[in-house]
Amino acid sequence: MDVAVVGGGPAGLMAAEVMSRAGLVVHLFDAMPSVGRKFLLAGKGGMNLTHAESFGAFVGRYGAEAERLRPLLEVFGPQAVRGWAAGLGSDTFVGSSQRVFPTDMKAAPLLRAWLHRLRHPSDGGVPVSFHMRHRWKGWDAGGRLHFETLQGGLRVHARATVLALGGASWARLGSDGAWVHQLQTAGIDVAPLRPSNCGFDVVNGWSPYFVERFAGQPFKSVAIHVVDAAGHVFLRKGEFVATATGVEGSLIYAASSLLRDEIERTGRATFELDLLPDRSADQVLAQVSHPRGSRSLSSHLKSRLALEGIKMAIVNERVDKATLHDPARLAVLLKALPITLVRPRPIDEAISSAGGVVWSALDDSLMARARPGLFCAGEMLDWEAPTGGYLLTACLASGVRAGKGVVAHLRAAIQSTSASRISE
Ligand SMILES: Cc1cc2nc3c(=O)[nH]c(=O)nc-3n(C[C@H](O)[C@H](O)[C@H](O)COP(=O)(O)OP(=O)(O)OC[C@H]3O[C@@H](n4cnc5c(N)ncnc54)[C@H](O)[C@@H]3O)c2cc1C
Repeated sequence: MDVAVVGGGPAGLMAAEVMSRAGLVVHLFDAMPSVGRKFLLAGKGGMNLTHAESFGAFVGRYGAEAERLRPLLEVFGPQAVRGWAAGLGSDTFVGSSQRVFPTDMKAAPLLRAWLHRLRHPSDGGVPVSFHMRHRWKGWDAGGRLHFETLQGGLRVHARATVLALGGASWARLGSDGAWVHQLQTAGIDVAPLRPSNCGFDVVNGWSPYFVERFAGQPFKSVAIHVVDAAGHVFLRKGEFVATATGVEGSLIYAASSLLRDEIERTGRATFELDLLPDRSADQVLAQVSHPRGSRSLSSHLKSRLALEGIKMAIVNERVDKATLHDPARLAVLLKALPITLVRPRPIDEAISSAGGVVWSALDDSLMARARPGLFCAGEMLDWEAPTGGYLLTACLASGVRAGKGVVAHLRAAIQSTSASRISE
């Protein structure tokens, strides 16, 4: 065969498509009984394919790896993602905060149409062959790919290979990070996989009362403020959820790389929770200080500031009695209640993974310097991004880059073979 793609997530499928269109014979292997399981899960809460902000702002979301990903996104960026989805019959729309979704919000029709096109290309491409329940275990001494299948071991020779094995979250969907050891053994540097877009445990946990009454409930319309030891600042309004051991949800995910890195450096990270982001500190102070007569503090705060439910509960949970009865100090805490986190939740629970194959181990076409003919794509590369469609866009873009890289690599190999034949 010309090419083996291992891993049938969005990155591997995209690489397969680019290569099949270029006329290569592509065989795609995956450990699971079917491909695209995480892609389908991503569609459950509304498939956020990409983002409609300016290209400069979009690239900036990839933080430290923005300049590595820029050339890939210039070739296959947010507009290309929308065009690709439209080509598969899924028109897109720009939703709240400029996130882009398929009109029906679903992943399944998109994946179904994509797999059909890969199996039955109508544009002159070569049909892609799929091999499910093939778990890649590494290479044998002869450089052949070694798979574990239901029928036993299988060794495969491919002229080029694309690995698109994903990160290490939601292992039950296929991406378990077991490849890290195999690549390191092959001399390819891999930065440790770490949770990204993840929840956290709070210091000392919540009280049993709080867990029983409020775990799973959202903090709506709050803001969080983080300043790490290096002076990086995060300040945003949004929502998050209390869990049995801490916090998770979109606002926490957005700050998660900062919080995770701070915990790694110092053992803990603290964010300030603004329970009343639509009111100024002075307004809050005025309302808290208003005489409350015989009313309890809870009913006072409820009537003056609409503070109730989980918002009131966390005040009772985290503020001591003396401060509760000191209007000036209480008003400050309602705008900036410190919540200290001690650890991220395990990587398996995270939306995505940070870390992966380091960029210096790859050339510009995503081919491993230590292993010519081996390309890597998708979440298994060393980058991270917030939720908002940035993850899928970069996975697809790197699939395009790796697919094109293979095509160029195999053409160059053919040319050099024929050149040496001519000179013989
Ligand atoms: C709950 C949830 C919601 C999400 N929502 C969004 C969203 O709305 N928008 C967004 O942009 N991103 C979202 N993501 C992230 C996005 O789904 C991933 O970033 C993306 O799927 C990664 O693509 P990939 O192709 O790199 O890897 P994956 O999709 O993880 O695919 C890797 C494939 O490799 C296979 N594999 C792994 N190891 C082996 C092996 N040894 N042998 C053979 N096969 C192997 C796996 O079975 C799997 O099929 C979400 C993630 C989660 C968990």
